[in-house]
Amino acid sequence: MPITIGEVTGTSLISINMSATSTQHLPDPGVRDRFHRRSLEHQRPLSTVTMAFTVVAFLCMVGARNLVDGPAPPLAYRLCCALALGLLVLAIPSAKSSWVFGAIGVAYMQVLVAGLALNAAGLAQPLLWVLPALVVIPICAAPLWLTPTHFFVGSALFYATAFALLLGEPRAYDVDAVVWMWIAVIGIPTSVVFHFGFYRFRRNHFLLESQLAQLAATDSLTGLQNRRAFVKQAARRLDTIAPDARVSAIFLDLDNFKSLNDRFGHALGDHALHQVAQVLMDQTTADDSVSRIGGEEFAVLLLGGLTGALQLAERMRGAIEAIERPDGHLTASFGVAEHRHGESIMVLLDRADEALRRAKHSGRNRVCAERALQPFTGDDARAGSGAAQRHRWEDFYLISHFQPLYSLSHQKQVGFEALLRGEQDDGTLVPPVVMFAPKPSQDEGALDRASHAVHLGNACRSLPDDAWLFLNILPATFIADGYADQLATIVRASGLETDRVILEILESHGGSVDDMSRAAALYREHGFLIAVDDFGAGQSNLDRLLRIRPDLVKLDGELIRATTHGTEQPILPKLVSLLHQAGMLVVVEGVETTEELILAVESNVDFAQGYLLGRPAAEIAPPESVHRQIDDAFDVIAQGRAHQHALFESEVEPYRIALRLAADALLAGVVMDDAFATLATFERCISCFILDDSGRQIGYEVAGPAWSKEGASLHPVANPRDARWDHRPYFRNAVLLPGVVVTSNPYLSLASGRPCIAVTLAVQFAAERSVIGVELDWSELGLPWPAGE
Ligand code: GH3
Ligand code: MG
Ligand code: MG
Repeated sequence: MPITIGEVTGTSLISINMSATSTQHLPDPGVRDRFHRRSLEHQRPLSTVTMAFTVVAFLCMVGARNLVDGPAPPLAYRLCCALALGLLVLAIPSAKSSWVFGAIGVAYMQVLVAGLALNAAGLAQPLLWVLPALVVIPICAAPLWLTPTHFFVGSALFYATAFALLLGEPRAYDVDAVVWMWIAVIGIPTSVVFHFGFYRFRRNHFLLESQLAQLAATDSLTGLQNRRAFVKQAARRLDTIAPDARVSAIFLDLDNFKSLNDRFGHALGDHALHQVAQVLMDQTTADDSVSRIGGEEFAVLLLGGLTGALQLAERMRGAIEAIERPDGHLTASFGVAEHRHGESIMVLLDRADEALRRAKHSGRNRVCAERALQPFTGDDARAGSGAAQRHRWEDFYLISHFQPLYSLSHQKQVGFEALLRGEQDDGTLVPPVVMFAPKPSQDEGALDRASHAVHLGNACRSLPDDAWLFLNILPATFIADGYADQLATIVRASGLETDRVILEILESHGGSVDDMSRAAALYREHGFLIAVDDFGAGQSNLDRLLRIRPDLVKLDGELIRATTHGTEQPILPKLVSLLHQAGMLVVVEGVETTEELILAVESNVDFAQGYLLGRPAAEIAPPESVHRQIDDAFDVIAQGRAHQHALFESEVEPYRIALRLAADALLAGVVMDDAFATLATFERCISCFILDDSGRQIGYEVAGPAWSKEGASLHPVANPRDARWDHRPYFRNAVLLPGVVVTSNPYLSLASGRPCIAVTLAVQFAAERSVIGVELDWSELGLPWPAGE
């Protein structure tokens, strides 16, 4: 069910609950805790000063007591009290929690009241001495207690201790009554009013402050974090994450949003922004930070590596695409980057933004990853914006080389095969045997998968718009669960379309043909093209080809040089013809010489690759003068074809004339032996024959000089009289052109196992149609061959 941008009634879609300031309770323990910590910060300096003054006041009282006659407790005791009070004052700045702070307050009051009682001991009216302190101290201390509990406990203990200590002192009842009345009527009520007045003020202040902070950090339209808060929070997170933790950023920008505003009004635009914010909140967890960074741009910071972030971005993209706008669907473009150690949030966002720009340029509504793709761990030591990227792997770096492929007919570059190379710190190449040696620490496909990411990261920078990227893939990787989805995500994230990528399944062990054909269907669904590499070598056989049904077949370089046994004719043309008939395009690799190029062109190969056309290089290079070379090859072939044709014609012509004469003789009633007498003396003649309308031989064949050369290798099929020949092209072509002498292409003679050609002519004997012909031995080296397949 798509969500639709519907009627918009309100202007502000989020309202901050301002009434919270009037709420008396702080029900949330988290909020209460923050309030106490905030109170502590407020009270700490005030308490320190007030309590320090009280120490001074106490010392003044001790001094005053020394001026009065009468026995007094030793001065040292009272000074000890003053010292204890001083130490408690010094402890205040380091009080970490509210209850430690409260405990210091209680201890301070207890020591103070004990000191006061000591100081007044031995006087005639001790209560009169301590009266001002008993009234004033709780009032002064009232605002300092952090919570009502602290206040009640601290005050009760203070009065109780005072009462207990002063009870044994000499008293006058009238004075006592006045003193306790002052305490009860002035001291206690005033301290209660002071405490709760202050407490309420502090709490309201705290709530207001929290709400202001919240407002300052929130985007009022969407309720998400605004840019300032996001950057601040992200910076704090990046500062405090564990060194091995991975963090990624997603940056997104709505596509063509201005047109939504312009055509349907800002209210609808606002509503769309609100809906996108909802989608982002739904797709993320409480651990992720989501922000409206500005206008129609949003950012997400999440824990985890690039692959997970790309998948999340892809889900977000899909969810946003489900939102309808009056003229279609809302879409957004995404850039994703993974945090690199020591990097600031702004640099991380910049890299995600750069990927976002690429997503915009490559058509919008897509997810692009940062250029230096790092789906595997390892520092990218040389991640420059312009330079090719290399990735740490074991004790060397992985780099990409690209070798061009050409379409022979179009004489232009059609793609590049990405080849993996290892590079040492000093730039020397790591030998392939070392690089591809099995590592116990890595699974077999790890290097394969890493290579794809490296190649895509490198190719996306400079792959021409109309070129394919050929990626080699091991059968085991190809059939690995979920890899089709993963690779499609990485490809799209690099800014390429999947239909620009051709996966070359390597010739190697691993994976049954069944698994591979199933996997091929998955990759095809994503839009990938499939090629089978090295056809003709090792594991790569015809069964594999017909089951996987690749779009392209790459021929093992050796096949170019392979020739037929005996005639030394190349087998490539026939093979290409076969593959074309099966619906597969053909690539030849390893084209190194002009002759091989000519053969490739002549064989009707579609694409060619090799040192002659372009060597692998670290950069995707524009074509040089290769098209001239291919053009020259076409010219050479055209000339050669004309030459061969002339030679062939001149070689066959005497046989044609002789066959026509034989036909005339047969029609005139001459017996077979005599009619074929001349033709049967010609050097290449194996035999002359007559076939009836159904292709069966009439009578016997008249053997020629080449007959004797026949071996008995194919003995069971050596007698032509047993067979029907109407399916052979030389029969069919003759019947199609009655009265015309036709020449076949070379074929393998079943009788001799050698290449031969047939010259045939369809003639009408009374009511019976027959085909007369001569089979010529064409196995001799250097004979011209007719052009064409
Ligand atoms: P692109 O696909 O290239 O991103 O095209 P765009 O139209 O989305 O990009 P552009 O930057 O040209 O336009 C952004 C628009 O976003 C311009 C402005 O009208 C709109 N916008 C920015 N902030 C708000 C907002 O708070 N509410 C509404 N309704 N529109 C906003
Ligand atoms: Mg936009
Ligand atoms: Mg924008």
